[in-house]
Amino acid sequence: MKIVPISLPTPFYIGPVNVYLIAEDPVTLIDTGPKTKEAHEALREGLRAARVRPADIRRIVLTHAHEDHCGLAKQVRDEAKDAEVLVHGWETGHRAGRLEYEEHRQLLVRAGVPDAEIEAMRKMYEGVRSYADALADDEHRELMDDDELEFSTGTLRVVHTPGHTPGSCSFLREADRTIIAGDCVLKRVTPNPVLSPDPVDPTRRFRSLEEYLVSLARLRALSPTLVHGGHGEDVTDYEELFNRYLRAIRERQAHVIGHVPKAGATAWEVSRQMFPDAADVHRFLAVSESVAHLDLAQADGKLVFETNTDGREVYRRRTAEDFGARA
Ligand SMILES: [Zn+2]
Ligand SMILES: [Zn+2]
Repeated sequence: MKIVPISLPTPFYIGPVNVYLIAEDPVTLIDTGPKTKEAHEALREGLRAARVRPADIRRIVLTHAHEDHCGLAKQVRDEAKDAEVLVHGWETGHRAGRLEYEEHRQLLVRAGVPDAEIEAMRKMYEGVRSYADALADDEHRELMDDDELEFSTGTLRVVHTPGHTPGSCSFLREADRTIIAGDCVLKRVTPNPVLSPDPVDPTRRFRSLEEYLVSLARLRALSPTLVHGGHGEDVTDYEELFNRYLRAIRERQAHVIGHVPKAGATAWEVSRQMFPDAADVHRFLAVSESVAHLDLAQADGKLVFETNTDGREVYRRRTAEDFGARA
């Protein structure tokens, strides 16, 4: 069972995206690239080089529903006539081409993001959304952890690896422990744990970084020999990457805690201090990252937070009093 990588251009800061073709019965495409003319052409070219016609594709599997990965899913499916689209059920926020806007807004309010900034983020995301076609609920089937995707000469096992998004999935070829990991594993950058509502209870915040750490450990337990990421080169030494990620997360956590003043601060205030130059989408990603690290520090018992009367959550360092109160 051969896995053929195809690199497609994206209009996003991250650069080209990797999608993967398994040119075997049933012909399967893992991720599709964004909905742009350039990506569509590059995809056709990649298929041609592998001697696959768009109409041959039977199955479109999505690692997650970010626009750079899923944008062309509908178009590719339509060209292939009766191909099915598979995505994890927890990718609710994006799979229908929409962010759960009110739930996201609530999360941003709680993080202390000012109204005008929230409005700017909303406008920006409307722009990003144009790089993906919506898929209705009856236009895809749900991937489940441990599902086996069968091919004529082997199988890929679905490994649910939440963190970057709640429904992110990886795919394991057991024979040689090769993994296709989407944005869960990227050689040159630590993936952002994107601020999301909890798919089970959308009034809560998804504990993205804690989930992500579990997913990284889960992949490690599979002893991968080769990991194909969603962007950049393959990872041949997962152990090195795993340790590098943990170090980066620990360092970032210490840094985030260092930006919490005695009087306390919201995630937004922390993000503005940590990334004062962030603009546009990077402001959202910065607040996303701050929330993730603040939540992890709180789970580790290093910070506490209180919800103000205006609904904003203020984090502060744990004091002796807090320890006393808990004893
Ligand atoms: Zn992504
Ligand atoms: Zn990506």
